[in-house]
Amino acid sequence: MAFLVRGALRDVLEESLGSEHVLIISKLDKPMLDSKLSDKVRLEDTRVRSILNELHEKRLVSLQRTKGPKEGWFSYYWSRREENILDYASKYLDSKLGRLSGMLGSGNGDILYSCDCSTVDYGAAIDMNFACESCGRQLKTERTPQEIRDINSEIRRLNELKRKTLGLT
Ligand SMILES: [Zn+2]
Repeated sequence: MAFLVRGALRDVLEESLGSEHVLIISKLDKPMLDSKLSDKVRLEDTRVRSILNELHEKRLVSLQRTKGPKEGWFSYYWSRREENILDYASKYLDSKLGRLSGMLGSGNGDILYSCDCSTVDYGAAIDMNFACESCGRQLKTERTPQEIRDINSEIRRLNELKRKTLGLT
């Protein structure tokens, strides 16, 4: 089956890389010179080369040197690395999800209370009468209920995107 950049995978790549990057990955359906690719995507040569270098750093494309018609001349062909693209998308989602759960602390939606030296959940804050036992300072909420709802809804969106991207329907 041909590799297609579409649907949820396309959404994730556009979010993490940008739409020009996705265009280039889509058009790179066989090994290609960067000049040929520039014509196909109708972007400046320098822009295409800079995007290709970025994708190369992320191991999403590879570069192959082949001998040209003349002695000592070489042509450079770019290919997309299909085997890495899904993995890249999945890692991007996981790292975003990890950061968001970190923002929630306990991960169960509890409102967190903190001072300069520690962070505790609501139950512990009540037990401590909202005063830190170590430094004696008042414990204050870190996130408002609205912030927590926003984070949770972003987590749901990313999980849904991940499920669709990996085809786990
Ligand atoms: Zn403290």
